[in-house]
Amino acid sequence: MPNPNRVTEKLFQSPSKYIQGPSAIHNAPKYLSSFGVAPLLLCDDFVYGIAGEGLMAALEVAKFKVTRGIFGGEASKDEIVRLGALGKDKLVDFIIALGGGKTIDSAKAIADDLGLKVAVLPTTASTDAPCSAGSVLYQPNGKFENYRFYSNNPSIVLVDTSIVVQAPSRFLASGIGDALATNLEAKAARNSPNFGGGLPTEAAVAIGAKCEEILFKYGRQAVEANRAKAVTPAFEAVVEANTLLSGLGFESGGLAAAHAIHNGLTAIDNHTLHAKMHGEKVAFSTICQLILDSAPTSEMDRYISLMASVGLPTTLADLGIGNATDEELRRVAALACAPNETIWNMDRVITEEIVFNAIKGADVAGKDHKVRTGSVGFL
Ligand SMILES: [Zn+2]
Repeated sequence: MPNPNRVTEKLFQSPSKYIQGPSAIHNAPKYLSSFGVAPLLLCDDFVYGIAGEGLMAALEVAKFKVTRGIFGGEASKDEIVRLGALGKDKLVDFIIALGGGKTIDSAKAIADDLGLKVAVLPTTASTDAPCSAGSVLYQPNGKFENYRFYSNNPSIVLVDTSIVVQAPSRFLASGIGDALATNLEAKAARNSPNFGGGLPTEAAVAIGAKCEEILFKYGRQAVEANRAKAVTPAFEAVVEANTLLSGLGFESGGLAAAHAIHNGLTAIDNHTLHAKMHGEKVAFSTICQLILDSAPTSEMDRYISLMASVGLPTTLADLGIGNATDEELRRVAALACAPNETIWNMDRVITEEIVFNAIKGADVAGKDHKVRTGSVGFL
């Protein structure tokens, strides 16, 4: 039920500073100098080779004493405890996250555990992790564990678009899938408290709408630019939509069915499905959201066409679970309707049966769109 505690205050929260541009990482020491002198730099080996060495060199020139924490790949409690102990042992005074969503979510948890500030330097524009004061945590086997919320947002988010453009375009497309849910979920959760515990402000509503506008205007063009490794205005705009606007929009606007069904999908034990990125699963779940919103076919088509144009999954088969049984889909629906899920933010009657039917309805809508447009689907 939306707003059971009758909250009346509005609340908006965000990182203290957001910086985005080509080669922005070279200016990192200037922006980080107020946080301390001994950071724990969290990144995996792959990212270290791409961006970590350059950052490390720039920080050392600026006389930072950097401890490197090698991230193992999963945002799990074990990993957070292990790297937190390293930070404590080395007496670090702030945390730097360099990498994708799971690295960032782990760094935020470590910073919170140690009572330190966190600087986020995303190397992809694929998730809402950089700007928010929360983490999505997983079990070591990749299954959704829980959300964790913090009293502070990251102190700084610095996005180097020269690095982000080096990532495969699938990452940007996945970010578009995640960001495309933002406005729809915020609209569905308009009368419910957001992640800060207050009602959405007009600013949050406007940010969600702007995010969606940019994706429809430039989403496809930005993915094409990414494939050509070109930092164009469209690419910059979509990086901002995926990172800043979607991040602020979901946190201060609120989530609804799409992310709850995304979390529910982890109930299905399927290798292909687990290999899909967050935003890819959210894309299909967004079609479920549209079904629950009673969106007309013309409106559904607008979203599905954009998803298909950037290679996002629009059917269960695209997610690798075209043969999922009704029993499995009912398990997804049951998990999506867990008591603490964001689906309860919606202003409509929700039951497991309604969600199960929405998943089936979304699948046929995606299939029907493929047939009508002659699209070959997700490659
Ligand atoms: Zn998301």
